[in-house]
Amino acid sequence: MKVGIIRCQQTEDMCPGNTDFKAAAAGKMAFEESGPAEVVGFVSCVGCPGKRAVPRVKLMVDRGAEAIVFASCISKGNPIGVACPHFATMREAIVKKVGDEIQIIDWTH
Ligand code: SF4
Repeated sequence: MKVGIIRCQQTEDMCPGNTDFKAAAAGKMAFEESGPAEVVGFVSCVGCPGKRAVPRVKLMVDRGAEAIVFASCISKGNPIGVACPHFATMREAIVKKVGDEIQIIDWTH
């Protein structure tokens, strides 16, 4: 499966996303069900409140992503325990934009 990962801009300076890539390639953690995944895009939300994540996600879908994955920095607050306060709103806007055929995975590891 080809996936596009969206990440929190606020954590880019404390995490290069290596565990996301490892989990996707190995089909582990959030990718257990889908199996090994190829990451076709890895982009940030462009900062609070995450509005610009919507066109960025659409672009990843247009370029072949079959599923959109929210990195755990957004949904779980990795690595410092501060989850995104805009996650639910951002997720809803993204689902509305890309439609139901695109699978959404809410975490990475
Ligand atoms: S909107 Fe959420 S994911 Fe984006 S920078 Fe702000 S806290 Fe991070």
